[in-house]
Amino acid sequence: MAKTSSRLPTKADVVARTPDPAVREMLLHLERIGIETPFDRFEQQKPQCSFGLEGTCCKNCHMGPCRVTPKKPRGVCGADANLIAARNLLRWMAAGVAAHGARGREVMLALKGAAEGSLDLPILGPEKVRATAKVFGIDAPEKSVESLAGEIAMILLDDLCRTLPGPHRTLEAMAPPERLAIWKSLDILPVGAYHEVFEALHRTGTGTDSDWENVTRQLLRCGLAFAWSSVMGSAIAMDCLYGLPKRGRISTNLGAITEDTVNIAVHGHSPVLVSAIVKAARRDELIAEARAAGASTIRLYGICCSGNSALAKFGDVTPLSNAMGAELVLGTGALDLWVADVQDVFPGIMDVAACFHTRVVTTSDSARLPGAEHIAFDHHHSNLDQADVLAERIVRRGIAAFGERQAGKVFIPKARMDAEIGFSVENILETFGGAAILLEHLRSGRIRGVVNLVGCNNPKVVYEESVVRVAEALIAHDVLVLTNGCAAFALLKLGFCLPEGLAATGSGLASVLEPLGLPPVWHMGECLDNARASAFFRTFANASGEPLHTLPLAFSSPEWSNEKGVGAALGFRLLGLDSYHCIGLPVSGSAAVSRFFYEGSRDVLGSVMVVEPDPVRLAERIITDMDARRAALEWPAAGAANPRRLTGLQGNGPAHAHPHDPSTDHDHAHDHGAGSHHH
Ligand code: SF4
Repeated sequence: MAKTSSRLPTKADVVARTPDPAVREMLLHLERIGIETPFDRFEQQKPQCSFGLEGTCCKNCHMGPCRVTPKKPRGVCGADANLIAARNLLRWMAAGVAAHGARGREVMLALKGAAEGSLDLPILGPEKVRATAKVFGIDAPEKSVESLAGEIAMILLDDLCRTLPGPHRTLEAMAPPERLAIWKSLDILPVGAYHEVFEALHRTGTGTDSDWENVTRQLLRCGLAFAWSSVMGSAIAMDCLYGLPKRGRISTNLGAITEDTVNIAVHGHSPVLVSAIVKAARRDELIAEARAAGASTIRLYGICCSGNSALAKFGDVTPLSNAMGAELVLGTGALDLWVADVQDVFPGIMDVAACFHTRVVTTSDSARLPGAEHIAFDHHHSNLDQADVLAERIVRRGIAAFGERQAGKVFIPKARMDAEIGFSVENILETFGGAAILLEHLRSGRIRGVVNLVGCNNPKVVYEESVVRVAEALIAHDVLVLTNGCAAFALLKLGFCLPEGLAATGSGLASVLEPLGLPPVWHMGECLDNARASAFFRTFANASGEPLHTLPLAFSSPEWSNEKGVGAALGFRLLGLDSYHCIGLPVSGSAAVSRFFYEGSRDVLGSVMVVEPDPVRLAERIITDMDARRAALEWPAAGAANPRRLTGLQGNGPAHAHPHDPSTDHDHAHDHGAGSHHH
């Protein structure tokens, strides 16, 4: 059973080992000026409650909270550790389905409004509309893009909110038949996302579902609702409305902030108002107002997924940081306006903003911040058609705040990096000339495997270190890496998304990517763009005729922390791909539930969750497992690894540099883990 390590990173560990020099500089600067960040608050929270870490605290009713141990193994109602851990996890899972689904719903409503003409929004992805209509079997030459977009929006909304039991149309149209058969046999096909969340809350209530295995079955059902409604449905709606990502090169990290501009950060996950803000910031009239206020122009910066998403679609948003680093960005004192929508906007940002002139605006009824101005879509989305008006007001707030900037308080680290962005399945297949060519690269071993390396951050491991160590080991072993969301920031900032990164890959991967001028890590956008990664994986299954669970493909979120992260990993495991992490699930207090996630799900899904606190060892495990899959397919072995590591070449390597031969890489003393599971 997993043990909770007492050795969690300290803030000093983060300062010593976090791979981005700008993060280190900001941590030291904020400490000097007395501003607290998540890394200080994490210190204050130690020691963390072991019942919480192990999943054995229940407060589902007010007879509790009950904390079960071997000496007092049942709660007041009789629930044991297996049931309590499974119920707790299911409630997290349900929250993840709701989180992605709620913001997806906003885009689906916007797509519907654009299709019907009630919103003044162009449909920028006609090719996605037609392609999706074909998959749904509703395409016909006489139907306009608008009418098809309207039908698609209704299918997606229906899958999300289905009232009467019926087939989940997105899942049934797009899932591999081999998987559909497995899910049917397990009886885990979802009715719809709303229903499965409702049912999850229902059956985890006091005295309802007392069978941990049946609770876990509902968790799998929620996993499918998460993957095919909350993620895939939302991603389809976004691509139809805003168009497919465009390849481009951008600058990133704090050194990309300019001082003579009106600086507006967009933070969160909801693209509808953000896209209107991008449009407004490009308007001549507003740029003229910014100039009249003394700025050279208006610039937009991206925090977390709002930035990633707008970046992929529109290009002119400079990505700065994931959610965990948001307070460090605010601490530069160089942002005039902070536009916060939904999810991963920590309340702590308000205390940092209050130390500077930075104004904060909230834009969703679902997510208010005390002290922020609220310029938002209402609870009923009755003012969705007012997006441009709201966006103009918001940009004007930024222009007004520019004049209040206190030059003496501005502190901007110099670190800055270029990065290639905007990868989609569609533009990748076009670049390579089809799936058969890509498959041949994979089969031959030039590409050893593909990993979707994503997830949020967690101070239980050194900030951004695990993502970076896993990525550099993977590319050195010819593993192609896809990324999105919070994890992507570390890779963008440290040069993984530049063709120059090929200097630290194996020769096989370089031979595939160099002629095309491609980087070793492909940025696919925000966390909903896990849908792109799973679609990319399915192209290999389709092209090879081999089921997904046999292919050298994997999911990894080394530093995951939030409820959506549970769903993201489960979504890929439901496809038969193993998921790899440095942090385990809070189920270690239950032997049965732990066994299911780390071993038993192999029999039913063909996949397990692998947890290894040391990121270098985690990468080795991914590579070993890929090689085993390759051998089982009788595909050629991949070539030798590059002994160099990308951050080592850049001087940002670990102080305890490895020789980087996996067979000799075991002696270093990483000890990051909490809630970790060892095999
Ligand atoms: Fe305790 Fe049972 Fe209530 Fe949970 S549901 S708090 S285990 S009595």
